[in-house]
Amino acid sequence: MGHSEECTLRREAIRDKNREFRERYPNHCKTCHGWGEVQDTTDPYLDGLEPCPDCVENGICPRCGEHSLDLDGSRNKCISCGWEEYESEGLGFNNFCTCGYLLTEVSEGIVSNIPEPL
Ligand SMILES: [Zn+2]
Ligand SMILES: [Zn+2]
Ligand SMILES: [Zn+2]
Repeated sequence: MGHSEECTLRREAIRDKNREFRERYPNHCKTCHGWGEVQDTTDPYLDGLEPCPDCVENGICPRCGEHSLDLDGSRNKCISCGWEEYESEGLGFNNFCTCGYLLTEVSEGIVSNIPEPL
């Protein structure tokens, strides 16, 4: 018994993407994993998001770690690496088993803070 082929391929693809991301952006924010948003813990249903207190809130890019965020209209953009708020992805998106073998496998200790609804 193991993961379905589809699930395995999907998770391997995510892992490869994560590996590339970590090599390219070693200084990404470890709090939000490069997303720039974290779960709003005051929201009782935990489905709200708020700007990451460790990067975006301080003008720091969640992806490259530079103090280089610039407000473009109502969105933050990074003038260093081109990261865009609400547009750019971080690490581990949908990094969950979808075949039911493991309901919430954590790969390499990285959990998406924006999990795909199962
Ligand atoms: Zn962050
Ligand atoms: Zn950046
Ligand atoms: Zn699976």
